[in-house]
Amino acid sequence: MQVQERQEEIRSVLKTVDDPELPSVSVMDLGMVYDIAINDGSVSVSMVPTFAGCPALDFIEIKVQKAIEEVPWVTDCDVEFSFQHKWSTDAITDTGKAQLKKHGIAPPPEDYRPGEEWTVNCPYCGSDYTSMDNVFGPTACRSILYCSACKNPFEAMKPVVEDTAN
Ligand SMILES: [Zn+2]
Repeated sequence: MQVQERQEEIRSVLKTVDDPELPSVSVMDLGMVYDIAINDGSVSVSMVPTFAGCPALDFIEIKVQKAIEEVPWVTDCDVEFSFQHKWSTDAITDTGKAQLKKHGIAPPPEDYRPGEEWTVNCPYCGSDYTSMDNVFGPTACRSILYCSACKNPFEAMKPVVEDTAN
């Protein structure tokens, strides 16, 4: 099997591993997979941690490792979180965003710049009848909001982007 095919296979396996904090959104679609290195049967996966306030990294590491080690040609798998690379909510794929919405979580805004206010659209009806002031605490990555248009409660994800001013 070619390395290319193996890469593809590992990628598709990673699409089946969910972030325990965000059920049904895979680590791949969350943009957490930074690099996949394959050397014969050895697979090394570098991942970027998502929200600092969501401590599920050990759990994700084990899940990813287990899933990859089930691939027949894999002899060993090493998962590493790299803190050198910064994850941002911009890394979430369109599939990931669609999955979030399906589960009643409003995806973070696109092209968000730190310090800006943003509008959250209700994942059910699309209404923007929501105010974001002080909804998120300093560490919270998600918050529960209430849609004034369709009366559904929903969750919203906070945008995380690199502060280019620093
Ligand atoms: Zn609504």
